[in-house]
Amino acid sequence: MAEFTLLDMEHFATEAWGPLGTSTIKKWAEFNRLYFEDSLRPVPIVMTHAQPFGKRLAFCSYNPDTHGRTITLNVPKKHNTLLADNAVLLHEMIHQYLFERGEEASHAGDGWRREIMRINWLIAGKEIWAGRSTTARRKVDGVVVRMNVPHPDTGKKSLGQSDIALWPHNRRGIRLGKLGAPGSGSRDRGVPVGPIAQS
Ligand SMILES: [Zn+2]
Repeated sequence: MAEFTLLDMEHFATEAWGPLGTSTIKKWAEFNRLYFEDSLRPVPIVMTHAQPFGKRLAFCSYNPDTHGRTITLNVPKKHNTLLADNAVLLHEMIHQYLFERGEEASHAGDGWRREIMRINWLIAGKEIWAGRSTTARRKVDGVVVRMNVPHPDTGKKSLGQSDIALWPHNRRGIRLGKLGAPGSGSRDRGVPVGPIAQS
C-alpha cells in the first residue's frame, strides 16, 4: 500500500471538515516538528460531532484495544462543555509517538511520564515531575493508598495520576489554543476546559 503522506492528511481533512480540517493538520505538522523531530508518521485525523467514547475528548487509535490508525478528535456542534483543542491534539500525538516507537503508550507507562516531562519543559520552560504510580501504606492509619513516587534525587512531589493522564490540560503556563488555532506556546490564550477525561 502506498504511504499515507502529509498531503494526503491535508486533502482528507480539508475535504471532510473544510478550514478547520486544514488548520488542524497544519497544527499536527507543527507539533510534529517542534516536539517530535518530525518523526511521527502522517495519520488520518478524524473529527466527530458525536461523543461515542463517553466523556472522552479524543480517542487515539494507537490504543491497543482498538484497530486501524487514526486520531479521532471530538468536536461537538454545541461545544459549551467539551471541546477538543490543540492541547488534546498534542496529547494524542504523544500516544502516537509512543506506539510508533513500540513503547508502552498508556498513561501509566514510563514513556508517557518521560514525554510529558520533556514536552512540558519545551513548551513552558518549567520542570514537572511525573513519578511512577505505586501503592504505599499510610503511616497515620496503615491504609494502603495509591500514590505517584516523588523524584528520587530531589524529593520533588509528583503530579497526581489524573493530572499525568490529562496532560497538558490544567497545566499552568500551557495555553495551546483552540483546535487548529495558529501559534503555540505559553503566551497563547487557550479555551478553558472543564473536567474531562481522555483516552
Ligand atoms: Zn490519553
